[in-house]
Amino acid sequence: MKELVCGVCGGGSQMWYEGLYDDRYAYPGEFALYKCTRCGFAQTFPKIPKQEMTRLYTRYYPRKDFKVEYIKALAKAIPSYWVRWLKGLGSTAHYWVPQGKFRSLDVGSGSGVSLLELAKLGHEVYGLEPDRNTIRMAKELNLKVHFGFIENCPFPKNFFDYITASQVIEHTSDPVKFVLECKKFLSDTGKMIITTPNIEALHCRLTGRKWVHWHIPYHQCFLTKRTWTEVAMRTGMKVVMMRTVTPNLWTVLQFRKLLAKSKEEEWAIWRTSTDNGMVRKRNVGDKLLTGLLLIAENFWVENRLVDTLNWGESWVVTLEKQL
Ligand SMILES: [Zn+2]
Repeated sequence: MKELVCGVCGGGSQMWYEGLYDDRYAYPGEFALYKCTRCGFAQTFPKIPKQEMTRLYTRYYPRKDFKVEYIKALAKAIPSYWVRWLKGLGSTAHYWVPQGKFRSLDVGSGSGVSLLELAKLGHEVYGLEPDRNTIRMAKELNLKVHFGFIENCPFPKNFFDYITASQVIEHTSDPVKFVLECKKFLSDTGKMIITTPNIEALHCRLTGRKWVHWHIPYHQCFLTKRTWTEVAMRTGMKVVMMRTVTPNLWTVLQFRKLLAKSKEEEWAIWRTSTDNGMVRKRNVGDKLLTGLLLIAENFWVENRLVDTLNWGESWVVTLEKQL
């Protein structure tokens, strides 16, 4: 059996899953996941070279179709604390950042909603995004976004009070390097808030290879609690907060994935066209199901319970410099 070296702790990694594929945007090929026997860090194999990664997002991710008015409307009303709690929206890192005169960077700022919301909290905001489809939106929204990766960023050292990265670190293949690169731009009293899928989550264990967050090959790695401890140790950071949050929307998507009968039905879930991916709206049964799932998106009590036990789908980790 093939063995890989763990990219975080250096331990041995063994095949965990094979034959995984892009179930969202139909990038061709099959991929395997290798899991470290020591810290549980999981890596996608084969890895995708960085240049190919940029091409992959621009070619396969749907952001080129986003409308500026839509983004503005999304950022108009920041959801209240209780709405965020009820729907499990805390998987978005910037929701953990306080109001005030801070300077913040959102790594992987995507459509720019996070930046508009942070600006509303009084922050001086900067974004970083490798997907060139979002350049037009950043210009139209008048946002300061650097296009590229965290390495070789033009920002001054120790510049930011907050660096957030929502569902980004898993898109890199080296979380230690990612945290070290972010750290360069973080002030000595600053905080880094990172969210990422949790492979120790209850729903991951229950659904196995049908888990909706493998998102292969865009997700290049997955971290466990133990991996986070290793990452912090190797980057000179300390974990000051660590918990899980499960967005109800994720659970709805998980159910739709489980109910999809073919790859085509899985891909349709992620289409951003006017049908909003509601492929199952065909008969009364499907309509009923869609309705139930939409209600579930607001009131999925089980997720709140799962999060209380820290068995939720997304890690929320706050790191500070170990001075
Ligand atoms: Zn390891």
